[in-house]
Amino acid sequence: MSASADMERARRLVRGAGRVVALTGAGISAESGVPTFRDAGGLWRNFRPEELATPQAFARDPRTAWEWYDWRRSVLAGCAPNPGHRALARFFLGRGAAGLVTQNVDGLHTRAALEAAAGRAGPESGQAEAAAGPAEAARAALPVELHGAVGRDRCNRCEARFPAEPLGDALPRCDSCGGLRRPDVVLFGESLEGDVLARAYSLAERADLCLVVGTSAVVYPAAAIPLATLEAGGSLIEVNLEDTPLTRSATVALRGAAGEVLPALLD
Ligand code: NAD
Ligand code: ZN
Repeated sequence: MSASADMERARRLVRGAGRVVALTGAGISAESGVPTFRDAGGLWRNFRPEELATPQAFARDPRTAWEWYDWRRSVLAGCAPNPGHRALARFFLGRGAAGLVTQNVDGLHTRAALEAAAGRAGPESGQAEAAAGPAEAARAALPVELHGAVGRDRCNRCEARFPAEPLGDALPRCDSCGGLRRPDVVLFGESLEGDVLARAYSLAERADLCLVVGTSAVVYPAAAIPLATLEAGGSLIEVNLEDTPLTRSATVALRGAAGEVLPALLD
């Protein structure tokens, strides 16, 4: 089938779907300049992420592990949401129902959601909505973050969460209990938080359509989420530059960059 026929078919699936879930991966942030782990730009002092983003690295040499996250935060500070993030944010805000799930830890979906909600809060938006605050207005487009977010810290001891701060001479400590902080992300070898995974599965099981964007679909359990939609009788649209293990299960596979395909598909 031609690319334009595939796009037309995919647009019909989107229009006809009641509930929609989207699962995104590192590919959606590639056009924002966020390095994937496999890029040379993802390397720092010749360490592999698998050596630094582990509980063992934080136990053995927390300074070096923290310096890597501090560097990643500085790289991210120079990145912004791209048309792919923005199309998804507009789409879910317009439907008023949440359905965005991401494996990314870069916080770009959250930024796009807040920006889209702020853009919609024109003069005609209600006072109640404005009073509820930006996060409430953006709620439908805020992602379930399967692997956490680099832009937050979490206490190793009491689990309290804090916005990230630049790394100083001393390792960052918890404001409430004094325990060591760590980035609020799932490290290699750790399991995903049960309630976060349950929320993602519940969205997928109830969806008529799952949109999978920019993921190689090899990291489990995230890669199994689209299968929950399929098993419940829903359809699957894949947006990627290339084939993945999910492609043969896809109802429609759209080949192209997320920043171009998603606005065409969703707007
Ligand atoms: P991945 O790197 O394994 O795969 C990226 C996929 O995106 C590939 O299939 C590639 O073909 C596709 N792709 C690349 N550019 C694209 C574009 N412009 N448009 C559409 N598709 C594009 O990513 P993954 O599947 O998310 O798994 C990587 C793991 O590493 C995840 O668990 C994630 O938490 C972590 N990670 C996150 C980030 C981030 O937060 N941005 C970056 C690197 C790694
Ligand atoms: Zn604490």
